[in-house]
Amino acid sequence: MSRAPGGRAGIPRVALPAGVHRDTLAVREGLPRTPWGENSEALFLTSSFVHPDAATAAARFAGDEEAFVYSRFGNPTVAMMERRLAALEGTEACIGTASGMAAVLLLLLGLLRAGDHVVCSRSVFGSTIRLFQDFARFGVETTFVSQTDVGQWRAAMKPATKLLFAETPSNPLTEVCDIAALAGIAHAQGALLAVDNCFCTPALQRPRELGADLVVHSGTKYLDGQGRVVAGAVCASEALVAEVFVPVMRSAGMALSPFNAWVVLKGLETLSIRMQAQSARALELARWLQQQPQVERVYHPGLPSHPQHALAMAQQGGVGGPVLSFVVRGDDAAAARRHAFAVIDATRICSITANLGDTKTTITHPASTSHGRLTEAQRQAAGIGQGMVRVAVGLEHVDDLKADLARGLATIGA
Ligand SMILES: *Cc1c(COP(=O)(O)O)cnc(C)c1O
Repeated sequence: MSRAPGGRAGIPRVALPAGVHRDTLAVREGLPRTPWGENSEALFLTSSFVHPDAATAAARFAGDEEAFVYSRFGNPTVAMMERRLAALEGTEACIGTASGMAAVLLLLLGLLRAGDHVVCSRSVFGSTIRLFQDFARFGVETTFVSQTDVGQWRAAMKPATKLLFAETPSNPLTEVCDIAALAGIAHAQGALLAVDNCFCTPALQRPRELGADLVVHSGTKYLDGQGRVVAGAVCASEALVAEVFVPVMRSAGMALSPFNAWVVLKGLETLSIRMQAQSARALELARWLQQQPQVERVYHPGLPSHPQHALAMAQQGGVGGPVLSFVVRGDDAAAARRHAFAVIDATRICSITANLGDTKTTITHPASTSHGRLTEAQRQAAGIGQGMVRVAVGLEHVDDLKADLARGLATIGA
């Protein structure tokens, strides 16, 4: 039995019947209700917790008795969110963090030391790439490899490789990597596989079931689902959370605010139906876009034309996810950019923002926003041209979204 500073392991769970379904866990897993009998989960806005006497306080600080002590490393509302997300991901435990990037930072601070080596997809979130590059200052070296070529991951392995890091599907090309194959490569030499599950969430894809050791989340996206808060989490074994991540959290302090945890906790209740509904709209929009003469190419894992369609369907529960990209025609890069901007600027419903994971559909031009700091050559290598538009589909009626895009497409000569 691990000792968990800040009190985690021994705090009571909701007593659910064994074997209830994930949909039930999404609305019921957490801590038992307080004596007040609230039906909606309580929001504990308190920085510290009081003890009945000095001896009990001493026992709790020493980790000999489980209790909440201080909200930097343990809070009932945060614990509820952690339990619920762990239940959905199928991991033993979870630790909430202040943001998705704080989750990646916690992972690196907890698992790596000078001399260690990491293999990471070159298609992961831009700030994640930056953070891995920054860790070179502390003697952690990272090799960036292809999202889809498993052979490159295998070839990049070194005796010092401790961590493989993937994100699937990628943004904005929706490229899919084979989680089970990467887990095999990692475990063959005792390394760990971490997967950023932001784009599919456990509603569609559960990396743990495919062999991943750690699941990273930006709760800012689909877990909240309505664009309200910044949040993050790492899901892992109880041993990793209690013995590796909680001690780092205790001293480094990238803690998730109870309020933000509460918003995410309530978001998890509707996660599955949102992901199904938004993914269905995205697939319909992708099919429609494929038929538009002004559109050169559409990227969505649910389309049979997607290069990893079969893998995506097997790995994501038969669902392509809510994010798609498309490329508008243009004789050269300048024309393509003008056409992409025309489509974006003609929308009256879609929000022009690089964020995603919202019930409100968002539209963005990756080449000048999320990938704007790359050189044109780097963008070409990454396959992100000036004609590309990314849409993260929300819950509006799909006919209204089609009309919103058709308005701008109609201005492009076919
Ligand atoms: C947004 C995002 C992050 C970072 O999350 P924040 O909550 O913004 O810190 C990490 N990974 C992916 C895939 C993201 O989309």
